[in-house]
Amino acid sequence: MYSDKEITAFIKSAPILQDIIDAKVVTWINPELTPFDDAPKFSLGLKDMEEAEQLWIRFAPFFMKAFPETIESHGILESPLREIPNMKAVLESSHGNFEGRLFLKCDNELPIAGSIKARGGFFEIIKYAETLALDAGLLKHDDDYSKLLSPVFREFFSRHKIGVASTGNLGLGIGIMSATLGFKITVYVSADAKQWKKELLREKGVIVVEFEGDFSEAILAGRQQTLMDPNAHFVDDEDSEDLFIGYTSGALRIAEQLKAQHITVDADHPLLVYSPCGVGGSPGGIAFGLKQLYGDHVHCFFIEPTHSPGVLTGLVTGEMSKISVQDIGLDNQTEADGLAVGRPSNFATKISKHLISGILTVEDDELFKLLAQLKDSENIFLEPSATAGLIGPQRIQASEYAKTHHLNMENATHIVWATGGLLVPEYQREAFYDKGSRLLKSV
Ligand SMILES: *Cc1c(COP(=O)(O)O)cnc(C)c1O
Repeated sequence: MYSDKEITAFIKSAPILQDIIDAKVVTWINPELTPFDDAPKFSLGLKDMEEAEQLWIRFAPFFMKAFPETIESHGILESPLREIPNMKAVLESSHGNFEGRLFLKCDNELPIAGSIKARGGFFEIIKYAETLALDAGLLKHDDDYSKLLSPVFREFFSRHKIGVASTGNLGLGIGIMSATLGFKITVYVSADAKQWKKELLREKGVIVVEFEGDFSEAILAGRQQTLMDPNAHFVDDEDSEDLFIGYTSGALRIAEQLKAQHITVDADHPLLVYSPCGVGGSPGGIAFGLKQLYGDHVHCFFIEPTHSPGVLTGLVTGEMSKISVQDIGLDNQTEADGLAVGRPSNFATKISKHLISGILTVEDDELFKLLAQLKDSENIFLEPSATAGLIGPQRIQASEYAKTHHLNMENATHIVWATGGLLVPEYQREAFYDKGSRLLKSV
């Protein structure tokens, strides 16, 4: 806990904190953004990203056998990059024109998990499974990994436990993948987790333990209970390197997609990327990966709800993962699943501190409006949190960022990272859409 005196001192050194405390919409430009060549050297690099990519490739036969919907993409889980000119026109008609082209990275379509957790979450589980099997002498790197689905392996994995805490989507991703391999998997969910997510997990044979409190409480309890068993692995959203590396592969793949669509990224063609942010793992991993590839030509922004700006609070105060939004008096209440996170990731936030260009906050109502507008203009459905990046281009245009960084915005490519939506049931989609439409009409 922090005393009033300490909070006052934080506000004195970073006045924007007062607006954050008041749950106002803010645009924070990161004063610690460091030119890429001068940024601290991290324990990770391009080599780790490439190794991760090799692991995904080894698992391709496994994915094709376990999930036939991945046969078409040869067992590689990837989502399309789509230009969304109609949505650009809608945004411009309500908030003014902006320069550059607007794209949506459709991770809402990622197979199986239906969210960006198919990158980080799946990666941590398949890496863990591979390590166990290699160590036990059951598997070699050049084997056909579809054998991991055989009874011998199921029996082997069933002797190992995995635990994870989640507001929903991470639990879905980890739960589905762990259960497919045969692990004994327990998902500790916070009170705000949606009923349909819990039901889906139970159907897959996942043990779901529900908590009264928020994500921080669920993760604390989940970590404690999992680690009581020395044979158990806890997927720690607040501190996992493997989750982070899993997300970085998104950067390698999107670089290929940009090339295929003849989109240049260089000093005269800036790339701006807008990612919804919970603990900061997925947006951090993607930002890290993109920076390895494009250095100072890519500009990464995170978006957090005004009531759950966990990473923003950690960076603005300098307290990193020691501080939570509750410590500054916010309630951490948001409809945006996956973003209702009061405390940032320790691992990811240390890296993001030097690499990200800024953090923007958004109100829940805005997310629902964007959801309805995107459905109407492009016929794309996203879950509310996944729409957050759509506020980015105009916010940045209204800021001094492009000017101070001498960006040629005429040539800009804006990528809004859409992080989830595929698994949302129809009744829930309708309710989200209706809410957004109503809000749009009431202005
Ligand atoms: C998890 C999630 C995020 C945020 O990822 P973090 O790693 O928690 O920052 C964003 N959108 C959706 C839909 C998510 O499920």
